[in-house]
Amino acid sequence: MITPEQAAAKPLPMPDADTAEFWAGLARGELLLQHCLSCSAIHYYQQGMCRICGSSHLEHRAASGRGTVHSFSVVHRAPGPAFKDETPYAVLLVELEEGPRMISRLVAGADPSVVDFDMTVQLVCVPVDEGVTLPCFRPA
Ligand SMILES: [Zn+2]
Repeated sequence: MITPEQAAAKPLPMPDADTAEFWAGLARGELLLQHCLSCSAIHYYQQGMCRICGSSHLEHRAASGRGTVHSFSVVHRAPGPAFKDETPYAVLLVELEEGPRMISRLVAGADPSVVDFDMTVQLVCVPVDEGVTLPCFRPA
């Protein structure tokens, strides 16, 4: 059973051994992608081995922060009390310049009605709580 206090709080990521460096990068203003040194694949989702070739030789490199909107949805009805003051807001599927796609959102305060397919966007690292910074995007 979820208490009203829990329902009013936004869910936060929980860094683990595979993602700690990624979250530390965001706190510095960098979106870290994993580059496979064996097959050159580039991954957004952080993990211990390459999903393409199985190599564990992965290296973090900062993404440019530039991307395009591959798809999006504007949320008018909040999924819970924690988000009701932010509607309407845009949830984005961003295709990063480096290739991987990631789910994110338009930064708070930006007009969601301007979002369109293939719109260029720029990373904005938003501190939301002590030790947690989220990757959001603004129109470029
Ligand atoms: Zn690989």
